[in-house]
Amino acid sequence: MTTAAVIGSGFGGLALAVRLQAAGIQTTLYEKRDKLGGRAYVYTQDGYTFDAGPTVITEPASIEALFALTGANIRDYVELMRVDPFYRLLWEDGYSFDYCQDEDALLRQIEAKSPGDVDGYKRFHDYSEDLYVEGYQKLGAVPFLNFWSMIKAAPQLAKLQGYRSVYGRLSDFIKDKHLREAFSFHSLLVGGDPFKTSAVYSLIHALERRGGIWFPRGGTGALVHGLGRFFSDLGGEIRLSTPVAEVTVVDGMCREVVAESGERRTFDAVASNADVVHTYEKLLGRSKRGASMGRALKGKRFSNSLFVAYFGTNRRFENLVHHTIIFGPRYRELIADIFSGPQLPDDFSLYLHRPTASDPALAPDGCDSFYVLSPVPNLEKADVDWAVEGPKYKEKIFKYLEERYMPGLRESIVTDRIFTPAHFETELNAHAGSAFSIEPILTQSAYFRIHNRDDQIPNLYFVGAGAHPGAGVPGVVGSAKATAGLILEDLGAAYPAETADGRAALAAE
Ligand SMILES: Cc1cc2nc3c(=O)[nH]c(=O)nc-3n(C[C@H](O)[C@H](O)[C@H](O)COP(=O)(O)OP(=O)(O)OC[C@H]3O[C@@H](n4cnc5c(N)ncnc54)[C@H](O)[C@@H]3O)c2cc1C
Repeated sequence: MTTAAVIGSGFGGLALAVRLQAAGIQTTLYEKRDKLGGRAYVYTQDGYTFDAGPTVITEPASIEALFALTGANIRDYVELMRVDPFYRLLWEDGYSFDYCQDEDALLRQIEAKSPGDVDGYKRFHDYSEDLYVEGYQKLGAVPFLNFWSMIKAAPQLAKLQGYRSVYGRLSDFIKDKHLREAFSFHSLLVGGDPFKTSAVYSLIHALERRGGIWFPRGGTGALVHGLGRFFSDLGGEIRLSTPVAEVTVVDGMCREVVAESGERRTFDAVASNADVVHTYEKLLGRSKRGASMGRALKGKRFSNSLFVAYFGTNRRFENLVHHTIIFGPRYRELIADIFSGPQLPDDFSLYLHRPTASDPALAPDGCDSFYVLSPVPNLEKADVDWAVEGPKYKEKIFKYLEERYMPGLRESIVTDRIFTPAHFETELNAHAGSAFSIEPILTQSAYFRIHNRDDQIPNLYFVGAGAHPGAGVPGVVGSAKATAGLILEDLGAAYPAETADGRAALAAE
């Protein structure tokens, strides 16, 4: 029987493990922490449930496809609920915009704000659709293993001006300052600076408009749990609280996965979902390839980090929708400070998550659970002592929220906790405490990103935010598809085709 190890159980690792197991490869999933999910970990505290990371689930079809591989149905594992409006966007000057799926509602709001931008928005939407087809549908799950594969893809993306920035290209279509912010902030959700990240990331708009935004009943953790249960049902093996210490390389091939406990096991294929620097430098550091790649990767630009405060209140804040984006006083300048440092900026823009707007069961009766997230510089860009600054930063954000949007907030908080860039480094082994791995700029994308299969060690694979295509749940689930395709080909395995759903899934592949 052919065997594979997947190191790390983020969405990318889970999706890859499911794909391999579904194709009959006996797969073991190693996870350092006590629960599955990686950045999608769940904290339960004082009767409140806090999803630690991803909360905006887009492109559900890519997740449904995982279950359909063996003819299973996602509905037997988790319920996905539609969320609309997608986000409510709030500015300090009092302007508010409901970013939603319904085109008429969007156009009415644009007309009211800036009539001259209605036509521009329609053209931007068409442009985003073209990018979606070229950048996501055609290339999102294709492994770029050589330069030639990228050259072949380049002309179409060049025609769509993928070499320009998200904000720069958007400005060709939309003139109003608030609307430019409303339609450009999305790349921040996957660690991309809208002023530097390739305009290809504007495809997120089409992705959201087409497929909607979803939230699992029970929280994102319920989706993670569903994927884990499905993997187990297929016969996969989950090893929680089992950090991998080393992957040995013998005769140019991965040989053993060595757990910190000292346990050693041999696999035909080894895929890492862990941070790419950690993987090369620490896990493969004793091999020549690991040491040299570890050094080289450290020269790359890594994405920003995040500060997240989770909190439960003893009452509900019905004035708030599920997802709120709160723009601070500065946009371009703040983003420059977040991506370049050299210090923690005084101001912030925030994402406020209120999952109890969709699923009240995530808090005790009559209460709300929340998280508030502030993008901040990573540990390389700003030297911040987070053990000291974290609690102060949290208080500053709570005060700001209370004064502007959540009257009476602080006296209603009954439980809270924080997650800082330092935690990204220690809990998740993330280089520089980056929340999204290697920054998605053009010179670090596609062929220039970590390859889904290592160039020199033929049975070493990568999946997740550091690999192509990049961060975000649809991105890492796409990377799993690309990586699984390579492993299946290398090991001569295939998905079952005996069920109608399985055949449909295969046809869609
Ligand atoms: C706060 C936050 C909010 C976000 N919101 C969204 C959102 O709303 N929508 C969206 O699409 N994306 C969102 N993202 C981005 C998205 O969550 C990530 O890009 C994605 O989940 C990363 O998945 P991954 O497969 O790369 O694995 P990760 O989630 O990075 O998991 C890697 C796993 O590897 C494990 N590991 C590391 N080292 C070892 C080792 N030596 N041995 C064993 N295991 C190891 C880690 O413990 C971890 O579990 C958000 C990210 C954050 C941080």
